[in-house]
Amino acid sequence: MNIHAYVSDFLDTQIKKDPAQKVFHQAVEEVVSSLSPVLEQSPVYVKEKILERIIEPERIISFRVPWQDDQGEIHVNRGFRVQFNSALGPYKGGIRFHESVNQDSLKFLGFEQTFKNSLTTLPLGGGKGGSDFDTRGKSDSEVMRFCHSFINELYHHIGYHTDIPAGDLGCGAREIGYMFGQYKKLTNDFTGAFTGKKPNWGGSLLRPEATGYGVAYFAQNMLATRQDSLKGKTCLVSGCGNVGIYAIEKLTQLGGKVVACMDYDGTIHDPDGINEEKLAFLKNLVFTRRGSLKEYAEHFPQARLLPGKKPWDIPCQVACPTACENELDEKAAKQLLKNGCQCVCEGSNMPCTPQATTILKESSILYSPGKASNAGGVAVSGLEMTQNSMRIYWTREEVDAYLQRIMKNIHESCLNAAAQYGQPGNYCAGANIAGFKKVADAMLDQGLV
Ligand code: GLU
Repeated sequence: MNIHAYVSDFLDTQIKKDPAQKVFHQAVEEVVSSLSPVLEQSPVYVKEKILERIIEPERIISFRVPWQDDQGEIHVNRGFRVQFNSALGPYKGGIRFHESVNQDSLKFLGFEQTFKNSLTTLPLGGGKGGSDFDTRGKSDSEVMRFCHSFINELYHHIGYHTDIPAGDLGCGAREIGYMFGQYKKLTNDFTGAFTGKKPNWGGSLLRPEATGYGVAYFAQNMLATRQDSLKGKTCLVSGCGNVGIYAIEKLTQLGGKVVACMDYDGTIHDPDGINEEKLAFLKNLVFTRRGSLKEYAEHFPQARLLPGKKPWDIPCQVACPTACENELDEKAAKQLLKNGCQCVCEGSNMPCTPQATTILKESSILYSPGKASNAGGVAVSGLEMTQNSMRIYWTREEVDAYLQRIMKNIHESCLNAAAQYGQPGNYCAGANIAGFKKVADAMLDQGLV
């Protein structure tokens, strides 16, 4: 059989089924385009129609979320949970609250999550959920009423052994708290059915930091393959949420100088670097006051706000996109290379457009896909589940040691799979192949379900 023709027919058929699901197809194409050598070596995956099965979510739950604002006006949002794949464990993945949420975006995220979770080596299936509800500009009580309404339906479908949601864009410890509270009330059951809980009622230490720290550890591992390190490297971080802020913290602790980050207003460029004092200001601004980066530029005169701009034009050696999908395009990729960037380490899910991905893959720089380098968050979610089952808490140091080990293992699996299938140094191919094989083999073992 001609595998390339099979893969291309397969992609065409999928696109025809749901022509509007562009971002999901982008993710599928990105994974499947790496798999030809695997399918050639193991035709059983083709015979057993593993590709056709793996891209179909096991279940999608779609529901109405009515809620009342502080003025008593009624609003209706859409809620979803995409339970993508449970071959390796219960569905696991975050909840995104953002106006962009729809079935397409959640299928993309659930699909990515399946391979990411597989790479962590922990027993986790893949899922993703959310709502087109935007938490920005809402009061705490509005967010609480919304979260309770969201769970009034979702509680039927999740649970400690079934599906364990966590946070994502627009969904942090506050939202997890409200959702967990309502889940507990409805089920009368205190179990770790969510991760990202606060540490005083079941959460793991270091969970908030884990995705960002993991990104920095992954970058460190990549640079080490070239006998290099983060010491003295100028770094760009785009997003300024949980992932971005803790990536800044760890990149700095490992010797890097982070000179930019970004939010809805634009990018701040701080040529002196975001040091400890400025980071403390940033954390307070973003996490406590939910303010805007404009204030950072007002507070620290050496920093400049570049309104509506992304950071990719600023010269750097290490770039970590940590905001959202397709935030780094072809032009940005070319500019990064032109400015001498040596490493692009993805912190968000699929931040590079397909054209940018191709350019970075074809260059000689180190380039890692989000499903590998941002897996630290869900990995520590897995460790939160372990601690909940054991009814103990590990120290920060214990969790950090696990996190570092897991990121090192993921890095190694990517390199090994890439080398084994004839693409040494290609982290994207390696992550796709290693993530896919584990899920595919479990699906073969479990038969046609
Ligand atoms: N939303 C995060 C991710 O994209 C974390 C998911 C989790 O902890 O379950 O991996």
